[in-house]
Amino acid sequence: MSSPVSSATNPADAAAVTALNEEERTRILAKAALFSPPSPLTADGRRDIVGLSREELTEFLLEIGEKPFRTKQLWHWIYHQGVTDFSLMSSIAKPLQQKLADKFIIARPEVSTVQTSQDATRKFLFRFRDGQEAETVYIPDRREDRGAVCISSQVGCTLSCTFCHTGTQKLVRNLGAAEIVGQFMAARDSYAEWPSPKGDTPRLLSTIVLMGMGEPLYNYENIAKAMRIIMDGEGIGLSRRRITLSTSGVVPLMDRCGDELGINLAVSLHAVRNDLRDEIVPLNRKYPIEEVLAACRRYPAASNARRITFEYIMLRGVNDSEADARELVRLIADIPAKVNLIPFNPWPGSEYRPSTREQQNRFAEIIMNAGFASPIRTPRGRDILAACGQLKTASERARNTLAP
Ligand code: SF4
Repeated sequence: MSSPVSSATNPADAAAVTALNEEERTRILAKAALFSPPSPLTADGRRDIVGLSREELTEFLLEIGEKPFRTKQLWHWIYHQGVTDFSLMSSIAKPLQQKLADKFIIARPEVSTVQTSQDATRKFLFRFRDGQEAETVYIPDRREDRGAVCISSQVGCTLSCTFCHTGTQKLVRNLGAAEIVGQFMAARDSYAEWPSPKGDTPRLLSTIVLMGMGEPLYNYENIAKAMRIIMDGEGIGLSRRRITLSTSGVVPLMDRCGDELGINLAVSLHAVRNDLRDEIVPLNRKYPIEEVLAACRRYPAASNARRITFEYIMLRGVNDSEADARELVRLIADIPAKVNLIPFNPWPGSEYRPSTREQQNRFAEIIMNAGFASPIRTPRGRDILAACGQLKTASERARNTLAP
């Protein structure tokens, strides 16, 4: 049965929702802290300066007796030029280069493996300082010289969405800002895309989608810090319009993401009834469809020019009927939205089967006829297990197989 969709319209209800959200936000952020990334100090006591905010970088430079203007200089070398070696910073005198190298490092995650698919999708398995690993995927556009980098936000995931192989791996920890920024920088190293293209100069790695392993809003502070660094105009300078965060619907942090970062939002909807979504996306038991959609209506960065993307995985006989499509249209009628239909990528042990092509087309047509773009996503990188919901599992499986 469909559940009625409502949102808090009278001021008292709205205040209650805000208070509840505040309490929930505090709880989520406190829980996130339990899964913090390891210390940014190396074994020899040097500090990784990737992932520091400008203010933090200035503080550390002051601590070693350097003037605040050095922040701008270092920022330029690290994030615009992409150097990882202080001795290449030609605008900085040699003695200071040495002093900086004694105190700091400019780290990248180590590339554990890199695979390139027949369709040119490239998947990186990155290893971080504590040996934990996460995957990042570059998906080139088929028609133009540009593409999206799909970035992970956590090692593992707590949410156990039933269609997602990644979700079968329990959460190990959150990724730190350095590890999140580092995924993008290391992917750009792989394509030698330095210095950072400015203004309208075309970029190969032109878009970021926070859709890799993990729920980004359960690691909000690190994600926010990393995105601020990536958007900073004196460094990487990627526009907020080119970044999309995908959430399963962590309602209390959706507003904050819109207010503070103004990046695009994608919501993993996958079902139009609460009973079914409770099963497919178990987070729905906490934040049901009507609350998720109300948060989408409030999302500050949404407009007709910047639509919210609803991700919808097509599961044969489960959520792919024409009635489901019509209900979806009804639910999102007043939201500037588009719908991405995702063919299910089967994995061993999963109960689901992909919808037939005919059913996908019928579903897409109903949505399109209601005025919403409804592309059926072409699976990319299937041969290297880089497609949606397949991340990390193969590498983890390989390791488990090798274990005595
Ligand atoms: S779909 Fe995303 S949030 Fe859900 S289990 Fe997979 S990685 Fe986690």
